[in-house]
Amino acid sequence: MKPFTPNHRLRRWLGGEPPSGDQSQGPDWDGWLLRRMSLGEIVTVGGVLVDRAVLRQRFACVAERCAPRSGRGPWRSCCADVEVALDASEHRRLSRVRRELPQGWEGEGCLARPSGRCALSQIDRAGQIRCVLHCLARERGVDRSEIQPLSCRLFPLIVVDFGEGRCALTLVSKTTHRLVGAFPPPRYPCLSDDRLPPLPEALKGDLDWAFGKGFARALDRVRKA
Ligand code: SF4
Repeated sequence: MKPFTPNHRLRRWLGGEPPSGDQSQGPDWDGWLLRRMSLGEIVTVGGVLVDRAVLRQRFACVAERCAPRSGRGPWRSCCADVEVALDASEHRRLSRVRRELPQGWEGEGCLARPSGRCALSQIDRAGQIRCVLHCLARERGVDRSEIQPLSCRLFPLIVVDFGEGRCALTLVSKTTHRLVGAFPPPRYPCLSDDRLPPLPEALKGDLDWAFGKGFARALDRVRKA
């Protein structure tokens, strides 16, 4: 199989410094990988260590169900309820377009979340939560990763760098959500509905962007094998 590797921007982001002020040791991804391997839950796809949970997951953005509003119930959303850390280059990229952003988006090494959702989110007329940066990138005709933080671009995917060219692809799941400070998957409508499409199909563009053209198809082949 053709080898796949994280693209240049993703590699730099993975190898970057933690957000300023973050002195914590970070999550124990080595322990997580060992446990997943011992259960036979890691498969290698073109050189990338892939958590089988990625292959089993169904996914689609269902923004009408997760926007913060009365009646939302227990549902949670990536744009309202998860803290997004910013590294220095993401902060620089946002600063370059600051005139086009709502004021008050800067938190301490992260995006601010006044009034219970990301300062860069908006609620559209249909009551759906939307990313201002997503729209801005479309207006400018640039790739989202030119403006949007990479953890937003990737959600619900998680890419972990193990050094020496080894990286793993997983997602917000029952084995990882605590490691990344997210809610358990059943709290997100996009991760808890078996009628949604398989994740490798739904996120084909993002998977190919992250690891190279053909990666999503390679995952899909492994999923169907
Ligand atoms: S930057 Fe955009 S995608 Fe990221 S949390 Fe804020 S609104 Fe959501």
